[in-house]
Amino acid sequence: MSSHKFLTLDDVETSNKRIFLRVDINVPLDPSTHQILDDTRIRAVSETLARLEDARVVLGSHQSRPGKDDFTNMQPHSEALAECCNQQVMFVDDVIGPHARQRIAKVEPGQVLVLDNLRFCAEENIDDKPEKLLKTHFVKQLSPLFDLNINDAFATAHRSQPSIVGLTDALPSAAGRLMEKELKAVSGLLVEPRRPCVYVLGGAKVEDKIPVIEHILTRDKADKILLGGVPAKVFLKAMDRKISADDEKDMAGLQTQIKNAKSLWMKYKDKIEVPVDLAYADTRGKRTDRAIDVPLKESALDIGAKTVEIYSKVVEGAATTVANGPLGVFERDGFDLGTKQVLEAMARSNGYTVIGGGHLVGLASILGIDERFKHVSTAGGAMLSLLSGQSLPGVDALVRAAERMRNQKNN
Ligand code: ADP
Ligand code: MG
Repeated sequence: MSSHKFLTLDDVETSNKRIFLRVDINVPLDPSTHQILDDTRIRAVSETLARLEDARVVLGSHQSRPGKDDFTNMQPHSEALAECCNQQVMFVDDVIGPHARQRIAKVEPGQVLVLDNLRFCAEENIDDKPEKLLKTHFVKQLSPLFDLNINDAFATAHRSQPSIVGLTDALPSAAGRLMEKELKAVSGLLVEPRRPCVYVLGGAKVEDKIPVIEHILTRDKADKILLGGVPAKVFLKAMDRKISADDEKDMAGLQTQIKNAKSLWMKYKDKIEVPVDLAYADTRGKRTDRAIDVPLKESALDIGAKTVEIYSKVVEGAATTVANGPLGVFERDGFDLGTKQVLEAMARSNGYTVIGGGHLVGLASILGIDERFKHVSTAGGAMLSLLSGQSLPGVDALVRAAERMRNQKNN
């Protein structure tokens, strides 16, 4: 058995077996044509599929969530998957109904049947306790049809949902290759990262970045945190610096985050870096850089050019750099400067570099520099959960599955 606490594809017999393979191939889609805009997550499961060439594979993923423009069927995904593996790939426009179950029963070795969007089932949209998930229709309908469950959906492992946790508890289960690789790369950052170790944190969601800062600084796993995006504004506010009138309004709803930022700042002043200047759009929309205490009235849209220089130097000299979340509103002309330049500094550095989060990874791939990072995570939220010290429900379920298997062998 491998050294992990869970089983991997090295530990299980897969030939001719009926396998449910959970992946996360939730990808950016053109909202009107449903054309796939970036297939990174699809290509990322090819190693697992290659290992399962003589198995009967039924593959399940979600795409977006109810109410969104890109909440669609999995037909485009199944076509893209066919390009990445040697198996015959088929699609069924059903998830747990009689139509899907008939097709699942007929899958032959060497074939992959792609189920429709798992979130077409209401139960798959709700996080619940493992014992509740075991009793869902989703698990009751699907589990009897399989010999083995493989979870390769690292990017969804922070969800406690039927296909991630329920099926893993109901069936003999192991981790896929991508799950293994991602866990090794990301959890390794919490063991002994090479120093100096720098985190670059930006984006819009502050609530998932503050717990990361707290965890890595408390456990002394980082030397510098470079802030951009909304997290930078929250810290500037917490430090009683002057921010723009519009940013001030946005901060009104973030009182808890500001309070948490303040206590982190008091403890770790020497490790947390905020921008020295920020970029705003003037009345004609043109980029204007200002030192932090002399803002324009509008919201800051990027870190300023001086900050870019400082951050780039820190990153170039780091032995480990981890980045999640863009440093500015990179979608707007002129305001992608900070994110682009810092990503490029990371790509130039000789250190161990990890990037994660849909927006940042998408930008790195558009810039054509994604292959120059040591690890490009397919996850955003799951990576941040791990880095903030939380355990992932999907991984916990895999550990329970390994324990069950061990107990069976001993009896
Ligand atoms: P990721 O997907 O990389 O994990 P998030 O989802 O947290 O990152 O945030 C991405 C969004 O953050 C982008 O749409 C970007 O426009 C926005 N953003 C970045 N900087 C700012 C800023 N200064 N003010 C407002 N929004 C920002
Ligand atoms: Mg995002």
